[in-house]
Amino acid sequence: MTAPAAAGRRPTSIATVSLSGDLAQKLEAIAAAGFDAVEIFDTDLLTFGGQARDVGRAAAALGLRIAALQPFRDYEGLPEPDRARALARASRKFDLMQELGTDLLLVCSSVSPAALGGLDRAAEDFCRLGDLAAERGLRVGYEALAWGRYVNDYRDAWEVVRRAGHPAVGLILDSFHAAARNSPLDPIRAIPGERIFLVQLADAPRLQMDLLTWSRHFRCFPGQGELPVTAFVEAVDATGYSGPFSLEIFNDQFRAGPPEATARDGLRSLIHLDDQARRAEGRAPLLPARAPIARVEFVEFAVDAEAGGELSRLFSALGFDHVGDHHEKAVSRWRQGAINLVINTESDGFAHSHAILHGSGVCALGLAVPDVDAAMARAAGLRATTFHQPAEPAGIPLPAIRGVGGSLLYFLDAERCDEVWDRDFRPVDAATPPGRAVGLTHIDHVSQSMSYEEMLSWILAYTSLFTIQRLPQANVVDPAGLVLSQPLVDPASDVRLVLNATQAQRTLSARFISEHLGSGVQHVAFATSDIFASVARMEANGVKPLAIPDTYYRDLEARFDLDAELMARLRRGNVLYDRDEGGEFFHVYSHVFDRRFFFEVVQRAGSQGFGAANAPVRLAAQTREIGPYTLPRDAAPHLRL
Ligand code: MG
Ligand code: MG
Repeated sequence: MTAPAAAGRRPTSIATVSLSGDLAQKLEAIAAAGFDAVEIFDTDLLTFGGQARDVGRAAAALGLRIAALQPFRDYEGLPEPDRARALARASRKFDLMQELGTDLLLVCSSVSPAALGGLDRAAEDFCRLGDLAAERGLRVGYEALAWGRYVNDYRDAWEVVRRAGHPAVGLILDSFHAAARNSPLDPIRAIPGERIFLVQLADAPRLQMDLLTWSRHFRCFPGQGELPVTAFVEAVDATGYSGPFSLEIFNDQFRAGPPEATARDGLRSLIHLDDQARRAEGRAPLLPARAPIARVEFVEFAVDAEAGGELSRLFSALGFDHVGDHHEKAVSRWRQGAINLVINTESDGFAHSHAILHGSGVCALGLAVPDVDAAMARAAGLRATTFHQPAEPAGIPLPAIRGVGGSLLYFLDAERCDEVWDRDFRPVDAATPPGRAVGLTHIDHVSQSMSYEEMLSWILAYTSLFTIQRLPQANVVDPAGLVLSQPLVDPASDVRLVLNATQAQRTLSARFISEHLGSGVQHVAFATSDIFASVARMEANGVKPLAIPDTYYRDLEARFDLDAELMARLRRGNVLYDRDEGGEFFHVYSHVFDRRFFFEVVQRAGSQGFGAANAPVRLAAQTREIGPYTLPRDAAPHLRL
């Protein structure tokens, strides 16, 4: 049983169309996520093996109220005898609703070529429908589809409901349909809340395509797209509407992914949205505010002892000092400028199981935040998986939440990070060979690879937990397909994360996932204020950068008017170059470590970019180095005619 809605929290609901699986699986996932209610999609009911009353009983047993049956199509505006037939159809839906145990039918505006226009005609039809519904104690709600034949704007749907003037006839608002046509949202505020029977929420990326295709395939949870869903919710809040916010998401990825994870994301999006709207309206927020990320305090690598030795040599050559060893564990701390890298070669505990499962890789990021307790409370409120010390045996016992690919995101007090280092690590004595610093100052960005299905989930997770914001996405060409790149930047601190996802199996981004059993950190970029000096010192330390072919530099000469001396320095250092409206961007890559991850050194001269234009060159060079992709031995070959 799910708990009743907490005082002051708006009831939450989701349409079954939003999830994968059969109806029983969907209901279980929805209840497990913690929703209060569910909208039953007609097709789910049709394809369900049992009776409608079994669905009603299953929902009740799971503690779910059925907010509505949906949709009922092409009802209003029909001439006789179609009009009488439509009413008879409605009567059969009312039978179903009574078996299900719901009192609300969602009627969407007609797209029938047989329908006639006219608000009065529609209002009259709804009056008749309202009478039929009221006889059984049921209600009908009218929703304007953005592609409706005559009614395609919520303002017209409201006018039909107003003119019908029937207590069993109300309005259904859908943020997608309202925002898709850029309808103004302020007129919502004038609608009496009790005349709104249901509010559906969906976000979507701004795409240039027909409304129907956009709506049926690309909707996403609030906070994952670009529509003004928070402004829509603020307008609805102003009406006094007290019913549920119900997610109605048609999305190909959601319908392919696990229903439990999708349902959890859905609830997270509603809680975050409610919290944001309350803040905007000056009401009491639900949760502590989103946490600013002051910096990435450390990156922890889980490796076996042999790889640990190699990684230590690489860190040393990259100019890091081995400054500390954990008091009790095989965990070492490497430092340069404000960068801390941790090598964990423990033979048990979290990092070890991560290394066994995923191979060498980043098992944790330490994020410095101003208020650890508040960040953890918000994470818990958003249903993140939380670990309070010392629940998880890790190298450094700190509060943490689950991160990408089974890694951990630790939270550290931004003002007191040194206390953690001093508490858990003893300084390494002076006999250690001095580091050969190469001028790396701080972490510029951390890049994580994930499946396409996971990307929306992590965009929501990061942007609902932290003040980090999305920048425009970029498509990067990999030798084996397209990679979608989503940069996130915290404007106050310039902490940057880059999420990379691909649907093409053989792209390097996908190979980091498929060959290493899961998503995770693909590269860490360090900042320098003089990239040529840093590269020269790295080379003196024995680290060769990833070789960039001469064709790249010839192309660069053609694209930018760079002076001969700069061109020579770029070539000599294998340094890549990009320029945007903000300024210049220089970067250089390491070779790939253990086929798993690599490092980048960047110098920003005004640019806030990531050198996306150069990514194909880097990817091609790394692919040459790692070798061509071969299908795993047990994979079925692609059969072609
Ligand atoms: Mg809808
Ligand atoms: Mg990068």
